[in-house]
Amino acid sequence: MSFACLDCRKSFKREFLLSMGCPKQMSCPDCGSPAYNFGRHFKAPKKTDIKQWKKVRFLFEHGFWFQRIYDKANRYQIIEYPKTMEGAREFVEAYKEYAIK
Ligand SMILES: [Zn+2]
Repeated sequence: MSFACLDCRKSFKREFLLSMGCPKQMSCPDCGSPAYNFGRHFKAPKKTDIKQWKKVRFLFEHGFWFQRIYDKANRYQIIEYPKTMEGAREFVEAYKEYAIK
């Protein structure tokens, strides 16, 4: 599972046994801030890519933790996460029913 610290703009991986469950967050090993569990599918932007990290934070704050979401209206196709901040704004509106609360 990938955990991401939005303050350090980095991610780190931790293995978990399925039977033990997986925490939704843990402390960042670098700064001690919360690092969030963005699952197996999260690809962290480069540390220097501030724009992309802003987008990550924006999605996260709207309940999108990079969980896989499937489009009910479209034969349960996997919905791609947006690549840009503008895309992210539309995305959180369009798919708000899938957001984690
Ligand atoms: Zn950190």
